[in-house]
This record gives sequence, structure tokens and C-alpha cells, in this order.
Amino acid sequence: MIYDQASYTREEEAQHEPLLAEKDETTVDVREESPLPEELTREAVTLPELSEPEIARHYTRLSQMNWAIDAGAYPLGSCTMKYNPKFTEDVAANPDGAVHPDRSSRSVQGTLEVLYGLQEYLAEIGGMDAVTLQPPAGAAGEFTGIRVAKAYHEANGEGNRSEVIVPASAHGTNFATAALAGYDVVELPSDEDGRVDLDALEAAVSEDTAALMLTNPNTVGLFERDITEIAEIVHDAGGLLYYDGANLNALLGRGRPGDMGFDVMHYNVHKTFATPHGGGGPGAGPVGVVDELAEFLPTPRVRETESGSGYERFEPEHTIGKVQGFEGNWLVLIKAYAYIARLGDEGLADAAAKAVLNANYLGERLDLEIPYGPYHHEFAATSGDRDAADVAKRMLDYGVHPPTTKWPEMVHNAMLTEPTEIENKSSLDDLAAAFNRAFADDDETLENAPNRTTAARIDQTSAARNPRLSWQALDGE
Ligand SMILES: *Cc1c(COP(=O)(O)O)cnc(C)c1O
Repeated sequence: MIYDQASYTREEEAQHEPLLAEKDETTVDVREESPLPEELTREAVTLPELSEPEIARHYTRLSQMNWAIDAGAYPLGSCTMKYNPKFTEDVAANPDGAVHPDRSSRSVQGTLEVLYGLQEYLAEIGGMDAVTLQPPAGAAGEFTGIRVAKAYHEANGEGNRSEVIVPASAHGTNFATAALAGYDVVELPSDEDGRVDLDALEAAVSEDTAALMLTNPNTVGLFERDITEIAEIVHDAGGLLYYDGANLNALLGRGRPGDMGFDVMHYNVHKTFATPHGGGGPGAGPVGVVDELAEFLPTPRVRETESGSGYERFEPEHTIGKVQGFEGNWLVLIKAYAYIARLGDEGLADAAAKAVLNANYLGERLDLEIPYGPYHHEFAATSGDRDAADVAKRMLDYGVHPPTTKWPEMVHNAMLTEPTEIENKSSLDDLAAAFNRAFADDDETLENAPNRTTAARIDQTSAARNPRLSWQALDGE
């Protein structure tokens, strides 16, 4: 008999007692008296009885109330929301790849070969010497990288370095990472051109400097042309240079953080190599380091065996420990591997070129001012004295997803836009039209927008502070 627990109430379940009576002596009956306190157990749930078409329509309707990269462009600056090619799903869904992570190295040589291959790919792409795949998100990669930097300083008797320098325009996770790792955060103002102010940097570094965290191109898409001087200033002070890899897709195959003087970096494989965004956890944010820092990386890593005939896991000599289970999120990592392998050197360099071309084509078509340039894969337009959030809401009425708004703060009413390399000309034209029309609409229209979406102006604070993450019956249902 097919026994579908989910569709039975507790009372109905009781009617199946005869089935349970047939159990042999050694079976543990988990459904007798619940060991949980009363207040922790649920009421019997009365689930609606629905037919398959009703359910299909219900979920299809829900999916249409939302926006997705499979539905249209998603030009959120810094987030790099790009389409994930479906062939990577096929690769990850291969049953041969579904091995238990706790199996012996000897019995999972294929898995280790892919992990090793990905470490090597990423090291080559970033100009780094060693890579860990373990961190489960970009932000977790940052935290891992800064902890590795800290372990390095401590091993050199310089554990008293207490400061991490972060540009004012940096992503919030950089400040959080530094603070969480126990550092004081020193904010670095940008110069008039929107880049690192060298004089301010000179003034900020000292024997207290543990690291400077930087992304390049920076948050408004500008390449830090003085990167070699920046590296020199930080290194002369005894600090390390950290690369926030969120913008790496502008550099792929054209420039490498390692060659610019960076010592440690994370890769947002969901921004650069088309794996799913992990929502802070179930993704991947590998970390690369130069030789001097390799012995502090999380454990385990994967290497070739001495004989060169296979692969093995190993623990770096002075590892900071684990930051995630096993080698990291295998089913995410294998997608990054597949994407890189499919595109190859030329494909990756081409992706970067198109990301930059698309941003520049779109930027050229906008009636909004773009204060800083020349920009690469993203730009920060300003809506001037119009509220950027209102313009963004109005863009929804024109059938596109708006860009990131009001960040970074160095641009007033910023609309940080990143179309990514996957959009074609007509899609970019649609985006430009939506931008320009919304920008031209009168104040009242903007304030009342959007009119064509399921939800209009959501109370974001309540949604974040008091999230309702499970289904709740409305009164009377
Ligand atoms: C996205 C982003 C991060 C954080 O990465 P997650 O993978 O989302 O945790 C860090 N820095 C910058 C500049 C980013 O855009």
C-alpha cells in the first residue's frame, strides 16, 4: 500500500495502526507518544485536497508573480544576475556524480579530479597559487580569506595588526567581514574620479594595517589604474591586498588579480561562472591565495598524489580549520567546472568583453547622467533629483527588472546597472526604453508606481525583521 504521510491528518494516521502492529520487535516506533514538549509539536494539519492541474496552475501562477532571469533581464549592479545555462544542470544531475562526500579518496577519484581541476582553473584565472573550494558563498569566502590573512600575520609574529582598510564605496560584506574577523575597519574615501585616493591610502596605512580589501573594477565599474602603486603602498606597510572577486567577470581572460599584486581573493562563482546564487549559504565562494598563504587554507584541499597517478585530500599545514563540510558544495562546484570547461580561454575572455560592451551600449542609450567613467561591466547612473527607488518602481510597469538603487552612496540617487554579457541588443534596447520612459514620467506617476505587479511597495523592513517563511492559514480558512 502506498502510504503518503503528507496527505494524512494525525487522526487518519491512527487508522493505519494495524500496519504498525505488523512491525517486528526491533523496529523503533517513532510515532507513539511524542518525546517533544506539547508546545513544540504541530496541530494536525488540514491540507486542501487538490487535483494535479489545480496544483500545476497554483505553482505556475506563483512563479509568474515573481521575476526570474529565465523571464527577462535582471540588471542588478554588483549582483551580476546572469542566466545559468541548463547544460550545467544536466552535468550536476548525472547520477554518477551523486557520491557520498564521506567516501574514501580512493573510491571517488572522479569527484576529486573535478575538484582538483576546478582549483587549478580558478588559480589560473585569478593568478593565484592555491585555491580552496570550501566556502559556501562570496561573503563566506571573504570571511575565510581575511581569516587566512590573519593567520598568516599571526604566524609571522604580527598578530597585533588590528586594522583592515575598506573603500567607502565597498560592498557591505567587506565591512562585515573585517569586523567579524575582529578587525577595526578604516574607511577609505575615493578621489574625485571615483577611484582609490592614493594620498588617503598613504595616510591610512601603518604598522596596524592587516589588509586592504578592494574590488577591481570597483563598485561603479571603474578600473583602478593605480593598482600597482596601491599594492606597493599596502605591501610596504606590511599589509596584504585582498581582492573582492564580485567584479571578476569584467576581467576574465584579460587581467588577473594575482598579476596586479593581490595576495588573496574570493571568487563569486555565481556571478562569474554561472552557478546559482546561494542566498548566503548553499552556494560557493572559493578562495585563492599566493604561495605564502597556502598553508593556512581551510581543510581539506585536493592535490595530486605524489606518484601523479591520482588525487587525494590533504590538510594544509597550518590550516584555519573548516568553514564548511567536506570540500564545499559539490553540486554547485561541478557547475562552475562545467561552465569554465565549456567556455574555455576564448569563451571566458569573450564573456568579459560582452559584459563590458553591453554595459557601455546600455549606458550610452540612457537619458540619465552617469557621473563616473570610463566604466566596464557596470555603471552607476543617477536619477538626479528624482528618487531612484521611484524610478525603479516605475520601470517595473514597463516590464523590466530595475537596477540596484541608492548604492553606492558616492553617487546621489544611484542606479547601479549591470546588464551582464547574456543580454542581446533588443533586450538592452528594452531596458534603455524602460529607464528613459520611467525617468520622463511625472512625479505623481512615479510615486504611485508600480501598477502592473502583484505586489507594489513592500514593507522591506518588516519583511526582513519578521519574515513569514511558512504557509499560514488566514482567519476563517
Ligand atoms: C555579491 C557581492 C559580495 C558578496 O557575495 P555573495 O556571494 O553574495 O555572498 C561581495 N562583494 C561584492 C562587491 C558583491 O557584489
